[in-house]
Amino acid sequence: METTSCYVTGLRCRECGRDYPAQAVFTCEYCFGPLEVTYDYERMRGHLTREMIVSRPQNIWRYRELLPLAGEPTDGLNSGFTPLVRAENLGRELGVRELYLKDDSVNRPTLSYKDRVVPVALSRAKELGFDTVGCASTGNLANAVAAHAAVAGLKAVIFVPAGLEAGKIVGTQVYGPTLICVEGTYDEVNRLCTEVAGKYRWAFVNVNLRPYYTEGAKTCGFEIAEQLGWRAPQHVVLPVAGGTLLPKVWKGFRELHRLGLIPHLPTKVYGAQPAGCAPVVTALHEGSDIIRPVRKPRTIALSLAIGNPADGFYVLKAISDSGGWGDTATDEEIVDAIKLLARTEGIFTETAGGVTIAVTKKLIESGRIPRDELIVACVTGNGLKTIEPLAGRLGATVNIAPSLASFEERAGAIVGSLVS
Ligand SMILES: *Cc1c(COP(=O)(O)O)cnc(C)c1O
Ligand SMILES: [Zn+2]
Repeated sequence: METTSCYVTGLRCRECGRDYPAQAVFTCEYCFGPLEVTYDYERMRGHLTREMIVSRPQNIWRYRELLPLAGEPTDGLNSGFTPLVRAENLGRELGVRELYLKDDSVNRPTLSYKDRVVPVALSRAKELGFDTVGCASTGNLANAVAAHAAVAGLKAVIFVPAGLEAGKIVGTQVYGPTLICVEGTYDEVNRLCTEVAGKYRWAFVNVNLRPYYTEGAKTCGFEIAEQLGWRAPQHVVLPVAGGTLLPKVWKGFRELHRLGLIPHLPTKVYGAQPAGCAPVVTALHEGSDIIRPVRKPRTIALSLAIGNPADGFYVLKAISDSGGWGDTATDEEIVDAIKLLARTEGIFTETAGGVTIAVTKKLIESGRIPRDELIVACVTGNGLKTIEPLAGRLGATVNIAPSLASFEERAGAIVGSLVS
């Protein structure tokens, strides 16, 4: 790989603006605001070109000047650059002219958007000298930390709420981390991890490495713009859990615009949450910027079941700065949307993707998103990990003996299902 100069200037408090060195710190010691990575955009402008980016391998690191490493990346060389699918069938069904799906259900290696953020955090963890990494997770992050840590030769300690889907548990344990199932909600798990991170010298990707981790989510926005021929879409619908992805996709578009890599910034961002855990969308609909935590999330979208989102405030800010909106989806609507996406586009998404598609449909039907403009919906996870909510919702299979006679006995039903 070519050598590139580093444009990171440090960390800055998002609230009071105090500067910090780029270490494993995540909150301001003066005001407890979150810290964010800062870059020297003036120096980057003119040096980072579309041609440079396009000439590089198709992974998250093709935008490395805008990612927070001092040196060479050590992980994620096969992650990112997922398909941007032109969804003709779904678009027709929803009555819109131009709909695309950013398909992170086939991100690598663990089939979710978390394959963007984890390699950035782990590469930075190595630079900072850590040998053990961890996370608090609703499932997909656990999968990603376990897999990427295995490749990177790092030890992994992973905390999840008890009761996750079997696919998320098996899809974590198979990589050999220490997996700790906590009898409590995600928010309780997260609080525990903050205490553990403070006490042991471990790098929790979404706690003390959070400023680096979250930057990886910008690559979703960079890729969308590049794949659209270096232009930002008018409307982007994104799911919201802890609140990393949505503001960072918005930030990604703004960075490309600031650097002159895209000419215009017409984008509005929209948030999607499950009705049984919608602290951000509730605040949005109430016109409040105070997010009241949901103590007991009740939804089949377990990967979005975060009652007290760390960056919920910044989700609201991105939605209001961009002029977007948000909505919720019930369990019923989530299952219907999973089936709709599969039936029209051949993409099997997990419950979180069902939330996004259901909310996209609602925002179009309610007129919040116009039917004749460019819309992107972000499908963030894979359906094979969350098959439980579909049990009994797909109809019966046709079971027969291995003979033509048995086939013909049921032929009426079989042929009938094909002609109906
Ligand atoms: C983590 C996750 C999200 C978004 O989470 P944020 O914390 O808001 O970035 C969306 N979809 C899936 C499938 C996820 O695992
Ligand atoms: Zn501060």
